[in-house]
Amino acid sequence: MADDQEQTSAVDEQPKSPNEKADKEPEKHEFKFGEHVWAKLSSFPHWPGRIVKPWKHVKKPPGKKLTYFVFFFGTEDHAWVRAENLCPYLENKERLSKAAKGQKFKKAMDAIEDAIRQEENKASPLSPFHPKDDEEIFPPKSKPMKDYSREPLTGKAKLNSTPDDRGKTSPEQETEKSPKKRGRALKDTASDSTPTKTSYASPKKRAASSALGSPSSKKQAKGNGLSFNSLALYNSFQAHLSDRTEDKKEDIVPTDKKIGFIGLGLMGTGMAMNLIKTGHKVTVWNRTAAKCADFVTAGATEAKNVSDLVSECDIVFSMVSDSEALRAIVFGEHGVLDGMKKGKALVDMSTVDIGTVTGLEGAITAREGRFLEAPVVGSVQPAMEGSLVIIGAGDSNLFDDCTSCFQAMGKKAFFLGDVGNGSKMKIIINMITGCIMSGFAEGMAVADRAGLSQETLLDVLNLGAISSPLISGKGKAILANKYPPAFPLKYQQKDMRLALALADQVEQPIPVSAAVNELFKRAKNLGLGEKDISAVYKAVNM
Ligand code: NAP
Repeated sequence: MADDQEQTSAVDEQPKSPNEKADKEPEKHEFKFGEHVWAKLSSFPHWPGRIVKPWKHVKKPPGKKLTYFVFFFGTEDHAWVRAENLCPYLENKERLSKAAKGQKFKKAMDAIEDAIRQEENKASPLSPFHPKDDEEIFPPKSKPMKDYSREPLTGKAKLNSTPDDRGKTSPEQETEKSPKKRGRALKDTASDSTPTKTSYASPKKRAASSALGSPSSKKQAKGNGLSFNSLALYNSFQAHLSDRTEDKKEDIVPTDKKIGFIGLGLMGTGMAMNLIKTGHKVTVWNRTAAKCADFVTAGATEAKNVSDLVSECDIVFSMVSDSEALRAIVFGEHGVLDGMKKGKALVDMSTVDIGTVTGLEGAITAREGRFLEAPVVGSVQPAMEGSLVIIGAGDSNLFDDCTSCFQAMGKKAFFLGDVGNGSKMKIIINMITGCIMSGFAEGMAVADRAGLSQETLLDVLNLGAISSPLISGKGKAILANKYPPAFPLKYQQKDMRLALALADQVEQPIPVSAAVNELFKRAKNLGLGEKDISAVYKAVNM
């Protein structure tokens, strides 16, 4: 424990009035600089650490939650950790020292015990790696979430606009916006992130297992099991667009930044192709190397591994299956973190859990990199057509730097403020999608049993208030009893699971979604995971 002089509170935002204190969550324990703790990062066991003074420029993660800067023993990493994920070391040693068994954990335990023995009553408030020229900083409170809804991503007016014009709307567009959206200037809500230099890996790296070396062409393509020819698939979708002028992308002025793209699956294929076709300088990497060939033919460069891709590019997009895959490409050997430094940026567009993206942001900004989450709404067809809706959150300057890329991949991009908000929004949207799809499948099954024509039901639905591309598109699949994956069912179930976790966290009962999750689980058990989400009908109509 620190001596009296050093026992300043490690809390960076003190309440200014009794009322303000009452508004905050009750704190069980206020940690001091130098205090030894157990710190928990999502998906990892409690790890021995010490509360230390934050480093200049190491950006505190956004959000109002009380957060401390922690030095991790053994791995000698640093990360911001929420108070709720910390507990005092000694009081919890007996319970948590059994939390993990690996060599790294044992090393960490030895290191903290040594430190406690050596320091006796004079634990340092500074990390052993505290930069010499660093000064104590208490990052400003992050700004509240704001609505960063942007212009539609097509048209010369937007492309030719000056920086000052950005965020302004035409009178026609103004009328479409809610009062909340009006008059917001882009820079008003910009994040003041100024990440710092550090040579230490994130604590999460200790648990990363997947090696991301040269992509193995020996590996079989996993997932959808389709024979894969990205270029042919892409061209067939593009052919549909030839007379839809509103979808044309000729006006896009590609950024001169070097773009990287990781994850050439169902979604990544169209997204990366659209970047290439709109003139961006693109380097690609995919776990199954064979999938890169068509992109090289189309003009991309192929990177040997993920860290090389990050080293070669200014902005790297990732579009991989789930949180586990994302953590593998970021924290794994030859992963994103190995190439991350000042001037580099990662934009993750996958649908993943909130803990993963906030953890990622911490690890990347600790290396002076920039991070944006940008999950997408829209399935394979919008990905191929470049008409996705993009939900960005995180570094607002990076969001702006991605303008031409988002124009290439999408029809509209929103900025929601702090990292985590994009994932939350995306998870909620998919939760709603899952509920609609299941209700629709049940309706089709009941119609069939009741002797009604499913075709007529679909015709009626398509003319009514709940008509939508989902009802008409998935209805056709059910009628044809063919379910090629556009949005694989296994990912819908993953997103229902993420929605349940989010609702649990905010204590919102979601009984309908909970039941829908069970239905998708049943569908997966029936071997329908790789099929399209519409195959849930088969689990209903058994
Ligand atoms: P997909 O076709 O299954 O592609 C997944 C990609 O992730 C592939 O490139 C795969 O590499 C890669 N990957 C998986 N595990 C990996 C690992 N451990 N290390 C490195 N790379 C790994 O999936 P998708 O449909 O494109 O979806 C991608 C993401 O977008 C998911 O998060 C999904 O929820 C979300 N999303 C999908 C849709 C949709 O309609 N499909 C719509 C919106 C959002 P390999 O090629 O080697 O397997």
